[in-house]
Amino acid sequence: AKIKEVEFVKSSARARDCPVDDRPEFAILGRSNVGKSSLINSLVRRKEIALTSKKPGKTQLINHFLVNKSWYLVDLPGYGFAKAPEAAKMDWSSFTKGYFLNRNTLVAVLLLIDASVPPQKIDLDCANWLGRNNIPITFVFTKCDKMKVTKGKRPDENIRDFQEIIRENYKQHPPWIMTSSVTGLGRDELLLHISQLRNY
Ligand code: GDP
Repeated sequence: AKIKEVEFVKSSARARDCPVDDRPEFAILGRSNVGKSSLINSLVRRKEIALTSKKPGKTQLINHFLVNKSWYLVDLPGYGFAKAPEAAKMDWSSFTKGYFLNRNTLVAVLLLIDASVPPQKIDLDCANWLGRNNIPITFVFTKCDKMKVTKGKRPDENIRDFQEIIRENYKQHPPWIMTSSVTGLGRDELLLHISQLRNY
C-alpha cells in the first residue's frame, strides 16, 4: 500500500464540478488546524502538494488528487474557522453537503480529530451528521505524539473520551487510527486501511 504517484487533478467549487470518474475516493476532513496538511504531506511524502483550501476565509474548494492512477484523495474545506460561539455548529456550505450526499464513488470520509485536545462539540456534530446520513467514516486521530501536556489529558485519554461519546450515537463503532505527522505513527496503517476498503 505505497503511494508512488500523486497527481493534482482539479479544484471544484461545486459538487457537480467534481471529476467525472468511477475510481474510488477518500475524502479527508477536519477542523481548521487539526493537522490535515501535515498528514497529507506525510502520506504522500511530497511537500510541494499545495493545499488550496488551507487558509481561513479563502475560497473553499474540493481538491481532487489522483493517487497511483487508481484512487482519489480528496481534500475538503475544513470547518470551525470562526471563533464566535454561534458558529460552533455545522456550517458547511450546501456544496460540501452536496458532495457527501451525491458522490457515489466516495468510499469513506477520513475524519481528522485532534487527539491533543478534549472532545470538541463541532467534531462530534460532524461525525453524527455523517453517521445520520449513512456516510462511512474512519476516525483519524492526529497529533498522537503530543504526550508532554502540562495540563489536560493525554492523547490516549482524549481519544477514549471521544470514543465513549461516539459509542452512544453509533450502533457500530467506526474504524479508527492513531496518527502523528511528527513521528509517522499510523501512516502505514492508514494506507493499508485505505487499500483494504478499496478492495471490498
Ligand atoms: P491544518 O490547518 O489542518 O492543515 O493543520 P496543519 O497541518 O497546518 O497543522 C496545524 C498545526 O499543528 C501546525 O502547527 C503543525 O505543526 C501542528 N501539527 C500538525 N500535525 C501534528 C502532529 O502530528 N504532531 C504535532 N505535535 N503537531 C502537529
